[in-house]
Order: sequence, then C-alpha cells, then structure tokens
Amino acid sequence: VASREVKPESTQVVVRDLKVGAGSLGVIAGPCSVESEEQLITTARAVKKAGATALRGGAFKPRTSPYAFQGMKEEGLKLLAAAREETGLAIVTEVMSPEDVELVAKYADVLQIGARNMQNYRLLEACGRVDRAVLLKRGPAATIDELLLAAEYVLNEGNQNVMLCERGIRTFEAHTRFTLPLATVPYLHQKTHLPVVIDPSHGTGHAYLVEDMCAASVAVGADGLIIEVHPKPEEAMSDGYQSLNLEQFAHTMAKCRKVADALGIEM
Ligand code: PEP
Ligand code: MN
Repeated sequence: VASREVKPESTQVVVRDLKVGAGSLGVIAGPCSVESEEQLITTARAVKKAGATALRGGAFKPRTSPYAFQGMKEEGLKLLAAAREETGLAIVTEVMSPEDVELVAKYADVLQIGARNMQNYRLLEACGRVDRAVLLKRGPAATIDELLLAAEYVLNEGNQNVMLCERGIRTFEAHTRFTLPLATVPYLHQKTHLPVVIDPSHGTGHAYLVEDMCAASVAVGADGLIIEVHPKPEEAMSDGYQSLNLEQFAHTMAKCRKVADALGIEM
C-alpha cells in the first residue's frame, strides 16, 4: 500500500499548518521531553517565530535507563495542548503502548511511534485506527524494507496519514550517537509515496552537527525535519547535548530556507 507503484503521486500529510511532502517541507521542533509549562511555552513561541509549524515534546519517554526521567505523562500532554492553544502549532508527541493511544490522541495532532517501537505491531495497528497522523521512526537496527512493512501495519488499518522518519542507525562508528544515512531520502522517494522526515538531532547526537545535517536533508529532498530545541540545553532532562538553543534554531531555519528557496521547495 505504501508503494509508488500502487500510488504514483506523492502523499502530502497536512495537520493544521504543518505540511509534509509533495514539494512542502514541514518543520517540527521542540524539546526532547516536556519538562515544565515555562520550558515548553518559551520553546513553542520561539520555534513558531522562526518558522516551525509543529511543536514536538515527549510526555511518555522511552528511556534507555529505567532510572532516568520517564516524562510528565498526561500532565505533559496537557501542557502541549495549551501550547497549541496559544501558538496554533500542531502537536507531535510519542505514544509508547497501544493502551495509551486513546489518551495521547485526545491531546496530540500527530502520534510519534518511536524507534524502539517501530516493530511493535499492536501499537502500529492501534495508531492505524485513530484519526491522527503518524510519524513512524526507523528502528536503529531496522532495514528500510522493514520500516516500509511497519508502515503497512498502520496503513492497512485505514490511516493513510503516515510520515516515515530516518533518525539514524547503529553502526560501528562511535563519533556520532547514530549514523544518519541521508540516502534514505531519495531511496524512499523512489520506493514509496509516503513523505520522509529527517531527525538530525538523534541522527548525530551532537548539537553542533544539527544545522549542517538539516541543510543537507533539505538538499536531498527531505519532506520534513524534526529538531530538538531547548531554551537551556545544558539543563535539559533528556538529550540536551543534541538540542539546539533558541538562537541556534533560528539560525538553522535561515540556512534551510536558503537551500529550500534555491530548490523551489515550499517551507
Ligand atoms: C525522541 O524523539 O525523543 C526519541 C526518543 O526518538 P527515537 O525514538 O528516534 O529514539
Ligand atoms: Mn530525544
């Protein structure tokens, strides 16, 4: 169902002002985790001003360590909805289990399926049965064909608003947190009509690499970017080392806009 042969024209996912695919580049930005009202609204205002059309922020966090901050759960979802109320930004947030789909869908516009859950088939099906767009992240050890088959689980339940996300894979290279293969974009464009979003934050694991990888993603034709942004990255409760501060995000957006303009991409 995801194949270009079945549907030759590119799918565009539209949620509020977020437009992803078919010549439009959508930018989703915000903190790794929702931490407080102040942190979230400060970030939301700044990313909106710089040109993002969606706000990301995890309320249910899949942490490697069970001793690490696990997220604000429903309290965090409420803060996201309040930020949407004020700014109009679409809300993108992760759902970790099938039982939580209804709750997360009550507050969010886009359900993020995290890399660790790419092959959680019951979760994929549950997300396929709700009227919310889905951002499906590639597992760090999954092949592109496995990603495409995971997307089919969502599509087959009726939900056609699926975005694929390359967020880096595990290789032997240790200088970056993951290895971010940008060839995924043109490869997927050839195979599928679904839009492709790049996550240079998790893909590199270092804030200083994010701007250049964003610009490169736009250059290879990415349909969207998801970028971690925090007002004080050094104080973040998760992924601070790979988060841009508000000024760095505005700078990154300006650079991406130049590339997009040169290529005739709407941003
Ligand atoms: C995230 O977006 O903060 C996240 C946990 O991403 P991933 O599932 O790609 O690790
Ligand atoms: Mn993160």
